[in-house]
Amino acid sequence: MNTDHYDVVIIGAGASGTALLYTLARYTDIKRIAIVEKYDRPGQVNSKASNNSQTLHVGDIETNYTIDKVQQVYPAAMMVAQYAKSLPETERATILFPTPKMVLGIGKEQVALLEKRYEALLPIFPTLQKLYRDDIANIEPEVMRGRRPKEDIIALYTEEGYAVDFENLSQSLVDQAKIHNPDIEVFYKSSIQKIQKKNGLYEISRKNGVTIKSAVVIVDADAYSLLFAKQMGYGKHFSLIPIAGSFYFTKKLLNGKVYTVQEPKLPFAAVHGDPDVRMPDHTRWGPTARFHPVLESANFGTSRDYLRSSGLHRPQTWKSFIKILLDPIRFIYLIKNMLYELPWIGNRIFLSNIKKIIPTIKHSDIHIAKGYGGMRLQRVDTTTHELQLGEGKIVGDNIIFNMTPSPGASVSLYNALRDTEQIMKFLGTAFTFDKQKMETDLVITQTLASTAEPSIPKGYAS
Ligand SMILES: Cc1cc2nc3c(=O)[nH]c(=O)nc-3n(C[C@H](O)[C@H](O)[C@H](O)COP(=O)(O)OP(=O)(O)OC[C@H]3O[C@@H](n4cnc5c(N)ncnc54)[C@H](O)[C@@H]3O)c2cc1C
Repeated sequence: MNTDHYDVVIIGAGASGTALLYTLARYTDIKRIAIVEKYDRPGQVNSKASNNSQTLHVGDIETNYTIDKVQQVYPAAMMVAQYAKSLPETERATILFPTPKMVLGIGKEQVALLEKRYEALLPIFPTLQKLYRDDIANIEPEVMRGRRPKEDIIALYTEEGYAVDFENLSQSLVDQAKIHNPDIEVFYKSSIQKIQKKNGLYEISRKNGVTIKSAVVIVDADAYSLLFAKQMGYGKHFSLIPIAGSFYFTKKLLNGKVYTVQEPKLPFAAVHGDPDVRMPDHTRWGPTARFHPVLESANFGTSRDYLRSSGLHRPQTWKSFIKILLDPIRFIYLIKNMLYELPWIGNRIFLSNIKKIIPTIKHSDIHIAKGYGGMRLQRVDTTTHELQLGEGKIVGDNIIFNMTPSPGASVSLYNALRDTEQIMKFLGTAFTFDKQKMETDLVITQTLASTAEPSIPKGYAS
């Protein structure tokens, strides 16, 4: 379809934008849809296979989720697995990787925590297992090799976990969307410079000077979404704390994903070991969490955009940053993470994190995963000086801005469902959304959390 006028334009072709594209193409009768992406293919920023931990976060090993949140996240994240399972085997095999997972509790306090959590999780995950020393050693021998015999240790374990290649998922969602609606337009290498509303329509200007128009715009640009929102007068009280997450590699030491108990104030901090779906002979360790003022990992050109979106010229922002970052736990953690970057000594300091999982690991066993890692832009509400972990959404006048740090990729199809409901409200009665069909296709028996309130409360992070 050759037009410069659309009903819906999506900005950003990562897991979020492409999940929405697929949802609109597959389950609505909206015809004039476009997606605009600045890179030459989908999933090249945080959804890129090398830039995230590839975990489908369902809540069984994420100790920072309350049980209520687990109940929300589990069916939401499983939509990605259900989508992948509906694909031909060759395509599915590039996206969804059945991977056992465990979370370790080390020391009396963590053992007690996981014992209690196990009881609460069992009704949701009936196949979840509670393992002690010998069972852990059978499943993950390196976790127990050389461990102090008197150390209290427990694991919650499931054989039913998944790793996801979110980059391949993004490509697949575009391909499938095109099959269901051949009229959709996909513009790659098209960086959006400006969005403005004129005569009831949004004008979306691309870098090459081309402008397209749309009744509705969904900004799925993750770190960049807040910048677009601010340019249009939304979300001015938000700032962003830029946390870069990078990784290390060892040879394959684990058979599945091994997580540790999260620190509630820093839920993205606990290092884990993961088989890398694209590097089967390796185990990937991380992510680190380093303050790094950019919007895109390893792209220093985006530091100017960080400064524009963070509102650092406002005293309120500084007040919030000081309050959040001077919390002793966070402060020590951030300093420690800065030290990981130092030559020679950095590896050695990082090693102490891996030692919790593999006691016999040596610094010569690990090397930095060059070119791996992404950005986790954590929102700050500068009116309350609070850190808002997890995804956030600003719903405006026929426009939505999605900010999608972890577990944004896992819940991308759920988020797309919620946005599609909102798009239907924006567009009035002209179009229909077969939500029931989407739920029948993608939602496992447990029901989805209410989609009535589009903003997920704080603390929904990994
Ligand atoms: C270290 C790390 C580990 C993580 N681990 C996990 C995990 O294990 N599981 C999980 O579920 N999540 C994880 N996440 C989070 C996950 O990566 C994100 O939630 C997810 O990738 C967000 O997808 P997205 O499509 O919203 O953003 P992105 O994938 O970043 O896509 C945004 C897109 O917008 C495009 N864009 C931006 N600006 C413009 C513009 N001006 N014009 C046109 N296009 C534009 C970008 O090019 C990009 O393609 C992790 C993140 C990090 C950093």
